[in-house]
Amino acid sequence: MYNYLLDKERLRYCYQCGKCSSGCDVNRLDGSFQPHRLLHLISIGAIDKVLKSADIWKCTTCFTCSERCPQGIRVTDILWNMRAMAVKSGHIPELLVHQREVLLKAGRLYSVGPIDNKKRGKAGLNAIPEEHPVIAKIFEISEVED
Ligand code: SF4
Ligand code: SF4
Repeated sequence: MYNYLLDKERLRYCYQCGKCSSGCDVNRLDGSFQPHRLLHLISIGAIDKVLKSADIWKCTTCFTCSERCPQGIRVTDILWNMRAMAVKSGHIPELLVHQREVLLKAGRLYSVGPIDNKKRGKAGLNAIPEEHPVIAKIFEISEVED
């Protein structure tokens, strides 16, 4: 996994030009989301503040910021890494905790119940299995649980 600590030296070359934020589609929709500000917090050591921030979960990982950065800073990877660190330190948004449980149980991000399958049956569609134990196995093998 990418580790921002290995790229910390390069992070020092960020001169806060804001080009990452100005090209970000999420920023266009939500002006409070500013990747360059998050990088600033990281560079001054305010990691905890970043890990607790809802902002790191807003990034769609489109990589536009990384492509636009004149200093070659891997902005997307850094934010992705912050998410991994946030998970390890227990700072996960409630919605994602729920989605993770559903994914673990059903192998998809939404749950399907008997009512859904009844409707599918009426529409001539096959029933979808409500549980998918193989996904839990994949989680286990890939140590996602850790
Ligand atoms: S585009 Fe690069 S140099 Fe400019 S603020 Fe973003 S990370 Fe820093
Ligand atoms: S990768 Fe994330 S932060 Fe970068 S431009 Fe895309 S949405 Fe914005």
